[in-house]
Amino acid sequence: VKAVHIIGAGLAGSEATWQCVSRGVPVILHEMRPDRMTEAHQGSGFAELVCSNSFRSDDALGNAVGLLHEEMRRAGSLVMGMGDMTKLPAGGALAVDREAFSEAITTILQQHPLVTIEYGEVKGLPPKEWGNTIIATGPLTAPALAQDILQTTGEDSLAFFDAIAPIVYKDSINFDIAWMQSRYDKKGPGGDGADYINCPLDKEQYETFIEALVSSEQTEFKDFEKDTPYFESCLPIEVMASRGAETLRWGPMKPVGLTNPHNPTVKAHAIVQLRQDNALGTLYNMVGFQTKMKYGAQTEILKTIPGLEKAVFARLGGIHRNTFINSPKLLNDQLQLKVRPDLRFAGQIMGVEGYVESSALGLIAGRLAAAQALGQTDIKPPRTTALGALMEHVTGGFMDGPKAKFQPMNVNFGLFPPMEEEIIYKSPDGKRLRGKDKTRHRKGLMAKRALRDINVWVKDGLAS
Ligand code: FAD
Repeated sequence: VKAVHIIGAGLAGSEATWQCVSRGVPVILHEMRPDRMTEAHQGSGFAELVCSNSFRSDDALGNAVGLLHEEMRRAGSLVMGMGDMTKLPAGGALAVDREAFSEAITTILQQHPLVTIEYGEVKGLPPKEWGNTIIATGPLTAPALAQDILQTTGEDSLAFFDAIAPIVYKDSINFDIAWMQSRYDKKGPGGDGADYINCPLDKEQYETFIEALVSSEQTEFKDFEKDTPYFESCLPIEVMASRGAETLRWGPMKPVGLTNPHNPTVKAHAIVQLRQDNALGTLYNMVGFQTKMKYGAQTEILKTIPGLEKAVFARLGGIHRNTFINSPKLLNDQLQLKVRPDLRFAGQIMGVEGYVESSALGLIAGRLAAAQALGQTDIKPPRTTALGALMEHVTGGFMDGPKAKFQPMNVNFGLFPPMEEEIIYKSPDGKRLRGKDKTRHRKGLMAKRALRDINVWVKDGLAS
């Protein structure tokens, strides 16, 4: 069997390697560290956790990332296996001893008879003779390769973004205060003139909000980030607020072209808009609200916006250098680059966030590459599973249309197809559930559905 080339021995590359060699497919694994370091990695070990040591919640029935853990375990994941082996006490979260974790993965792959490790930077897209290749070079892909990907895929395809806006679950927004309306009732393609969620602020609320923004605790830039300028069109809200109290009212919080149906005679002083973020309509992002406030400050300050008092965030805003490709546009459903099907992508570079999500895409890409090497077809994980939801996010689950913008994401239940209404809102004894009970119940049902469906996939696919 011809070897699969995998570039990058981070989380995704290590997992993909494991998935291939577990199926008897040899791998040539390319890693540039320690010859050339990234701005964040500290050592030369594989699967280094560059920041926190947490894989987040391990609750398979109550949290989407916990569910992803469990699905990956069932699919024979190396990252999860070594994560469990090097686990530290951390309540309901899965935290790992980062050194032991990386060392275990490095040793297993270095000693595996089917793995050949080639140290050194890959300075551009590999020649076609390499054949079946996975690019798993992460958010800090070395510039020469990043540049080549950019050239091959087209200018708009490799995005650098420095700020991201928070994303809110629609069902946590208070529609006694908020309302749906597009500015000037403008109809977008397929829209009905009510595409946005609007949250109104009066003068006093606005001024208090601006003061809170200006004095908020903000994430400090790392040394390597200090020279990166802000994009003027993508300024964090607290930076805009510090330029003048009215700046946001002339920018993302402008109150024009909108009428509050709850209070039609009073004009709002400022309005925050949220735009649908996923095809299912369960997630909304706060338009123009990119921020580098610390997470605690974000949840506290953003919840002072009327209508968002009880907002549950699917993702908070943040700032860091992040290289990712416009996967839904560039990749086919086998995660291959449409213009170069010999190249498959895996990990954070595809537009997911987080250690576990990146590893999960390594798992899927590894299975697909192994199946290709063996002349078999591996089926995609079902849409109802966390693995399937992530796969859908990177291959087409994003909103269509000219304004659609593909943005990296953590796994969350908003990416899953909804359950049927009558099942969601009733407990086993037939009582109607409300509030947090309702949400917990719905997540539990979605998770059970996912675990049932992943078992079928693991059994039918090559992971058995
Ligand atoms: P990586 O793990 O980064 O692996 C990519 C590998 O490719 C690296 O080993 C790199 O050396 C190698 N490589 C790059 N270019 C080349 C080349 N041209 N040739 C050969 N090898 C190459 N996620 C969390 O869940 N929690 C956090 O707290 C967190 N903090 C973060 C902080 C920072 C500063 C950054 C940048 C990211 C953070 N992330 C965090 C995201 C995290 O880095 C990723 O989720 C995860 O590491 C991505 O896995 P990956 O395998 O896609 O990339």
